[in-house]
Amino acid sequence: MVLHNASSYLVCFGDKNDCCVKSYINPDKNKSKISGKLFDEVRKSFLNFAQINKIVFLKQVHGANGLCITDLSQIPKEKNIFDFEGDFIITNLHNIAIGVLTADCLPIVLYDKIKNIAAIVHAGWKGLVANIIGKVFEKLQKNFDSNPTDILVFWGPCAGSCCYEVNKDFFKNLEKFYFFEKTVVKKQEKMFFNLICFAKLQLLDLGVATKNMNFKYNNCTICDNRFFSYRLAGPIAGRQATVIVLK
Ligand SMILES: [Zn+2]
Repeated sequence: MVLHNASSYLVCFGDKNDCCVKSYINPDKNKSKISGKLFDEVRKSFLNFAQINKIVFLKQVHGANGLCITDLSQIPKEKNIFDFEGDFIITNLHNIAIGVLTADCLPIVLYDKIKNIAAIVHAGWKGLVANIIGKVFEKLQKNFDSNPTDILVFWGPCAGSCCYEVNKDFFKNLEKFYFFEKTVVKKQEKMFFNLICFAKLQLLDLGVATKNMNFKYNNCTICDNRFFSYRLAGPIAGRQATVIVLK
C-alpha cells in the first residue's frame, strides 16, 4: 500500500500485498461478484492501517451511477455492502473511507480543496462512455457547489497504453467523443487504448486543471506485477483497493 497523506485527507493506493483477495472470488457463482469475505479482508487491512471508522465499497457494475453520502444513515449496512450497486462514491463526512476495487480499470480519486469533499470513481471504458465523470461533477456541483478548478485528481493504477491492446473496432465505442483519436496508440501493427488519457481529456473538458492532477500512482496493472490484472488472470483476478478518507 502506498499512502498519500495530506493534512485534511488521506489516499491509500492498495496492491497485491494488502490483502489476499484472489482466493475469495468465486468464479462458479458469479464472475463479477466479490464475496463478503473479501470485503472483510479489505476493510480490516485498511481500517488497521489508516485508523478510520468505516469503509464503504459498492457492487461495481461499470455504469455511471453512484452514491453521495452526506449522512451516516446513507451508508449501506456492512452485510449488504455489495447489494448496493454503483461506480462512484462522494462524501463530505470525516473518518468515513470510500473506496473502489479494480484490476485494470482506473481508480480516480477526487478532492475538492475548498469545499473539503472526497470522491472516488471506478472508471473503465464503459463507465467513461456512459459519462460517469460528468455525473460525478454534476453531483459535486449540485450538492456542494464545487468548482472544477478546485478539484485535485489522483490517478490510481490501471491498464496502461503500453499493454492495453484492443482491436480497431474497439474505438467505434468512443466515436461520440471528439477527442477519441488522442486515446489511440499504434505500435507496429497493433493498437492500444490509452484509458487514462480518455479520462483525463474528459476532466479537462469539465474545467479541471492539469496542474491539479497527480500521476505518480498511475502504474500499469498489466506489466507491473505489484498489481492485480484482469487481462492477465481473467475472472479469477484479485482486486486492489483504492481508498480516500477525509480527516
Ligand atoms: Zn504496461
